[in-house]
Amino acid sequence: MLTNRSKLVVKKGMTFWERIYLPAILSGIYITIKHLFRKSATVRYPEKTREISAVWRGQHVLKRDENGAERCTACGLCAVACPAEAITMEAAERKKGEEKLYREEKYAASYEINMLRCIFCGLCEEACPKEAIFLTDRMVSTDYGRGEFIYDKSKLVEPVDQPIDVSKRQTMAVLQFKKLKYFSHNK
Ligand code: SF4
Ligand code: SF4
Repeated sequence: MLTNRSKLVVKKGMTFWERIYLPAILSGIYITIKHLFRKSATVRYPEKTREISAVWRGQHVLKRDENGAERCTACGLCAVACPAEAITMEAAERKKGEEKLYREEKYAASYEINMLRCIFCGLCEEACPKEAIFLTDRMVSTDYGRGEFIYDKSKLVEPVDQPIDVSKRQTMAVLQFKKLKYFSHNK
């Protein structure tokens, strides 16, 4: 024996009350009934949703400019900044006559975000020099197939006639910066 901490285990028989299980069953029923009258910690999602913060980070949007042209120039900075490697894109050159569709000479012919990889950190939004990508307060919908979570431009680019307001998500410093018209970025 190395120490005197060892303990001899003896097989102890059950008491009468332990053998009939009744106290254990009644105690279980009591705990269940007690929780019936307590406020539930969960909500019945999706019928009910919790109140979320104004800067809560949900589904992304690819923004258009004030003329309806896509802002994204497929520079890839969001993809480089993304720690989850959730963003992929293919760039293409804007052709003559497409100025109303794409703001810059280079645009994203395809742009995809894998919502299963995304951790909604917001770094893509921070990295974007064109204010093209923002996270919004919209929830990513649930689905059964993994393929449905690859969001392409049809799900990401905001509709021309229904712009998604992200002004409340921008800090005072960003809004001040946008007023500086001598930055070509803000023109
Ligand atoms: S929110 Fe974060 S994880 Fe999601 S796409 Fe943007 S950078 Fe990647
Ligand atoms: S969303 Fe912004 S950072 Fe990402 S490719 Fe487009 S312009 Fe570049």
